[in-house]
Amino acid sequence: MLKIKNYINGELIEPSKKQYIDNYNPATGKVYSFIPDSDESDVELAVAAASAAFHSWSNTPKDERSRIMLKISELIEKNLERLAVAESVDNGKPVSLARMVDIPRAASNFHFYATGILHYAAESHSMEDTAINYTLRSPVGVAGCISPWNLPLYLFTWKIAPAIASGNCVVAKPSEVTPMTAYLLSELCIEAGLPKGVLNIVHGYGHKVGSAITAHPKIPLISFTGGTKTGAEIARVAAPMFKKLSLELGGKNPNIIFADCDFEKMIKTTINSSFANQGQICLCGSRILVERSIYDKFKKEFVASVNKMKVGDPADAASRVGAVVSKPHMEKVLSYIELAKEEGGTVLCGGHQIKLEGEFSEGYYIAPTVIEGLTADCRTNQEEIFGPVVTIMPFDTEEEALKHANSTQYGLASILWTENLTRAHRIANQLHAGIIWINCWLLRDLRTPFGGVKSSGVGREGGFEALNFFTEPKNVCIKIK
Ligand code: NAD
Repeated sequence: MLKIKNYINGELIEPSKKQYIDNYNPATGKVYSFIPDSDESDVELAVAAASAAFHSWSNTPKDERSRIMLKISELIEKNLERLAVAESVDNGKPVSLARMVDIPRAASNFHFYATGILHYAAESHSMEDTAINYTLRSPVGVAGCISPWNLPLYLFTWKIAPAIASGNCVVAKPSEVTPMTAYLLSELCIEAGLPKGVLNIVHGYGHKVGSAITAHPKIPLISFTGGTKTGAEIARVAAPMFKKLSLELGGKNPNIIFADCDFEKMIKTTINSSFANQGQICLCGSRILVERSIYDKFKKEFVASVNKMKVGDPADAASRVGAVVSKPHMEKVLSYIELAKEEGGTVLCGGHQIKLEGEFSEGYYIAPTVIEGLTADCRTNQEEIFGPVVTIMPFDTEEEALKHANSTQYGLASILWTENLTRAHRIANQLHAGIIWINCWLLRDLRTPFGGVKSSGVGREGGFEALNFFTEPKNVCIKIK
């Protein structure tokens, strides 16, 4: 069985203690490869390699950094099918989704920042005839990048690309639940001629590798995407060391549907925004708030469409819903469905594990689940479930919809359906979220700021926001009189 390797100082190497973790295929529930169980000694090697490479890489002309990154982007595109299959096997997502979304986006991330860095300029501030200020922006040094399992290569590259484009060297850790495409990326980086030490990938557990990266005195900057609890722990460790932090955390996003929406479009998109990637996207709308006058119609048509979604083998093109990522995660999601029932909810469809036949009989499948009859403040409607589970709730007024929408500790994304232009702008202005989609979902322009408010995070990714994060500004003031 394949043993994944760490990528340190340009080479694929075993973890120093030669220990490995089982890697499960969620579709079958079987171990299919081994992940390095690295520790702080491996992180130490990676930091040494990144520190040694920093002087040369940060002084490499932007054009050359860009050229190498474009080559990596091309290689991701060239290997699209192989990477998509690997992502699907590792994560349980339908291969069609990995083919259409995850892997093309990973290629775009490299392409976007390979070209973005060529257009990135710093400011100048003139004090009339007294002085001129100009701002230099320098890479910070060794950046720590830690990513989750739900969009493995997509989110991993979303951090690495701006970090290395702006001249930093990186010590990165993919999720130990989905390490495979990060490993394949390290092979592509070698093929593309990325100089050794510029990117180092250390595999393993969060409490060993992740915490060693967070606590390392030679890593002054951490870009993290994952759960809110982990983000709080990282902030606690990093704060006394004054590290720069970007934290992209959990969500409990509202999907607010007004009676005047384009009903057909809304239903089609709401199926996706509820259940794409088995509901395991931080941007999914898991609390669906529907204006009372169309509540019954919505409930009937939505549930009918959900019932038609095929749950099955992720490799089968007909499967709309694959496996959730792991057994513990499946158990967590199922426990939330039980909680919803205890809290007075009625399960309209789904609500249970699905046992498939043959080689998939031990896989982690959950029927897409719709629940009604819950209050806005119950735990089911306040806590992140991160699975194929949504609640639906009627509302009577705009004020009530807004109150419920803004009632959680989270503030990542909100979705709004209305054809009323003034209402759309009015509500967008009042929603507590970093990202608002009106009459659409997951439509992304990589130049726009990405991130959340409240417990959904600190800072923004995307566009020049990420290049600002991965650089330190230095103001130079010259007196001219
Ligand atoms: P997680 O917090 O458990 O793990 C994320 C990463 O952090 C993993 O690589 C893990 O090994 C590492 N880690 C764990 N403990 C650590 C520690 N003490 N120190 C340093 N690193 C540590 O999250 P997950 O279960 O992998 O991902 C799901 C979560 O991610 C959900 O809450 C979801 O909303 C969130 N998410 C947010 C966004 C966003 O952009 N805001 C995007 C995707 C996922």
